[in-house]
Amino acid sequence: MRAPSEPSPPSAEEARALVEQRAAALGFAAVGVARADVALEPEFARYEAALAAGLHGPLAYLAENVEARRRLDGADILVGARSVIVATVRYDQRDEYDGAPVPALAQGIARYARGRDYHNRIRKALRKLATFVRTLGDGVEARPMIDTAPVLERAWAARAGVGFLGKNGLIITPGQGSYALLGEVVTTLEITPDTPIEERCGQCTRCLDACPTRAFARPFVLDAGRCISTWTIEVAAASPEPLREAVSGRLFGCDVCQEVCPHNAKERPAGRFADTFAPHERWRRLELRDLARLGLADGPRWEELAEGTPLFRAGPAGLARNACLALGRAGDAGALPLLREIAREHPSDVVRDAASWAVARLSR
Ligand code: SF4
Repeated sequence: MRAPSEPSPPSAEEARALVEQRAAALGFAAVGVARADVALEPEFARYEAALAAGLHGPLAYLAENVEARRRLDGADILVGARSVIVATVRYDQRDEYDGAPVPALAQGIARYARGRDYHNRIRKALRKLATFVRTLGDGVEARPMIDTAPVLERAWAARAGVGFLGKNGLIITPGQGSYALLGEVVTTLEITPDTPIEERCGQCTRCLDACPTRAFARPFVLDAGRCISTWTIEVAAASPEPLREAVSGRLFGCDVCQEVCPHNAKERPAGRFADTFAPHERWRRLELRDLARLGLADGPRWEELAEGTPLFRAGPAGLARNACLALGRAGDAGALPLLREIAREHPSDVVRDAASWAVARLSR
């Protein structure tokens, strides 16, 4: 029982205001709340239909734990969950720093991945938010999540009103755009939910038209089997031949569907996390050729090259593959001797294949 002198817990509305304040103080750019106990039935049905149509492509993990993605109050997430707090972290949109352009190597890297590995930094901020939420009532449980559980993250973000789902499949926050990462705190605390925001794409189709691989099956629906991020980050295999030319233009991920979006037209400050996302100084001293040599007997050490950056996810062979394709695309005939050596001697058949493709392209 509560002692007479103890303050009573905040109401659901007060809890919302307190969470908003704390999230802003921690550097989150936007925050919203959805009810956790209303399952994502329509969103889940669309997700299942996309899986049935094979739009997950080679990303088999998207088809795993399918039921867990529907709800948040399963034992695998948080028993008794009432609210999902969704918070965004803006990343850097700039093409110049202190009057100098982004290093050439980093220009081939998606903006969210040009700096340091952001997971720990965001996880720490989400943990602090979760710790704060636990103080808002007796026995309140709160679990922070960033890339840690199979949830329909963008669907929750849309329900929490932090933005609307654009035709490019990304969450767009009005006045802030889409250059942001999402994190969640799932909690047993009752918090007044936000209202979803109306979609504001209108007649625009710029992202669908600009995509280098025509990866959108239709508005709002991405075919992961055609997405450049899939073939430069997520899978170890060689990209399909019909996509190879377009994929070769990127080293790690792709931003085209964000670059053309009018909601991102205005460059905005990156905020509290700017130093995490600013291009890593490593990308100033390295060249594509250094990355292409990964895995050769006298090549650079993988840990020194990629550790502490998001590029670690692609693995050494994945990054060497991407770099070989990019060298072929760059049209630098001076890279031919190196590419021929890689095509002969690299231990990975995927990298040898990429180097052979680049040699053929440069020899045309
Ligand atoms: Fe929507 Fe146009 Fe932005 Fe695509 S580019 S997400 S259609 S506003």
